[in-house]
Amino acid sequence: MTPSPDTIAAIATPPGRGGIGVVRLSGGTVPAIAAALVPRPLVPRVATLATFRGARGEPLDQGLALFFPAPGSYTGEHVLELHGHGGPAVLHLLLARCLELGARLAEPGEFTQRAFLNGKLDLAQAEGVADLIAAATATAARAAARSLTGAFSDEVRALVDALIELRMFTEATLDFPDEDIDFLRAADARGKLAAIRARLATVLGRARQGALLRDGLAVVLVGEPNVGKSTLMNCLAGRDIAIVTSIPGTTRDAIASAIEISGVPLTVIDTAGLRPTDDPIETLGIERTWAAVRDADLALVLVDAQAAGGGISPATAALLAQLPPALPRILVHNKVDLCAAGAARAGSGDADAGGSDDGDGDRPARPRREVWLSAKTGAGVDALRREMLSVAGAHEDMEGAFLARERHLVALRAAEAHLAAAAAQFAQDAPPLELLAEELREAQTALAAITGEFSADDLLGVIFSRFCLGK
Ligand code: GDP
Repeated sequence: MTPSPDTIAAIATPPGRGGIGVVRLSGGTVPAIAAALVPRPLVPRVATLATFRGARGEPLDQGLALFFPAPGSYTGEHVLELHGHGGPAVLHLLLARCLELGARLAEPGEFTQRAFLNGKLDLAQAEGVADLIAAATATAARAAARSLTGAFSDEVRALVDALIELRMFTEATLDFPDEDIDFLRAADARGKLAAIRARLATVLGRARQGALLRDGLAVVLVGEPNVGKSTLMNCLAGRDIAIVTSIPGTTRDAIASAIEISGVPLTVIDTAGLRPTDDPIETLGIERTWAAVRDADLALVLVDAQAAGGGISPATAALLAQLPPALPRILVHNKVDLCAAGAARAGSGDADAGGSDDGDGDRPARPRREVWLSAKTGAGVDALRREMLSVAGAHEDMEGAFLARERHLVALRAAEAHLAAAAAQFAQDAPPLELLAEELREAQTALAAITGEFSADDLLGVIFSRFCLGK
């Protein structure tokens, strides 16, 4: 491996003060820079206590120097880590000294990009590094760690290998049409394809769960003023975020709060009560509500459980009709503590197969999901949490999830579609072999993009530029 000619440097620890701070360097001139900075010889991969020196030999800091010669390093190049003290001023001095010695400032994600280019990590693993750092919940972090250590890539590669084997038989049949043996039949190609599709479906399921862990869900609370949206928001968040008053129209702006349910990060957005108003500030709040609704993954439509007719007032019916048709919603009957009939149903979170969403227009009626609860006492709120996860398609147990990105899901779905097309051709009496071979090839290409074997350079640029500095 030829070390990259330019050496990059960055402060690898987050900004702010801490016990230690790390400056990391990678590239061909690292040994020379190390010799100028640290007057002691560095044994590879052994932490050496040293004084880091400035241009005139003055001490900049004292700490541990770690030298990883190429190719046995994170990037595959010569790497030097200087573990000094974690103050912004001292770290900047140390970094400036590295730049003076010929290093240049690393771009975001450039260390990991070099690791990828030098074959230390595949693309899905590199993305796992960024996702682990960005993980918002412990479950998401564990899923990212699975990607980082290659579990996701291994699954994808196993699929690619199985596809390659299947393609071999198809191509052999194509190349030797006059042979007596039917390669495809002899190899049970149809059974093999079915097995690959089943395995892909499992990987896709685990990736979908992971995408939920990574991206979370945006949940909007909508409903008429005073139904208890702010109270429910505070209850879900477990702390007071929104102002609760009995004066309608108090919540004028959309307030967002990050919460977690079974490891799934959720952004709950409390919205301004939607009602006709002349108040310019309230109008602005209502506009923001609609903007939040357009971007949401789930709407909780709050109604007062005390209201007659199942709580669907004309205003709420109008609201339901205005929600984007594809936006999943749960009808939440709040304040069950105030009415005996509602209290009896508290916690029931089953979809009411008899009802259907009002305002669905001509679309076929679908079961309405309803929950009865009290945001004030907390009764029934767990049922709402479960219902929210179920609407989102989350499993109770997310421990098998791969922290997948949208890019991975797109690739897995494309592979799934090509394999479905291949299976459809197989089902014919005389499968059109060229088409079959082409579908298998396309499925393989889609899967290989996940680990980066067939990725375009511009895609790489997009992926790595989203990293934080020093990674
Ligand atoms: P919002 O305007 O929809 O955000 O409603 P708020 O959360 O501000 O609540 C309006 C009023 O209803 C407040 O006085 C709350 O204390 C009260 N409230 C909210 N939820 C409940 C509930 O479950 N039970 C009872 N008894 N009162 C509630």
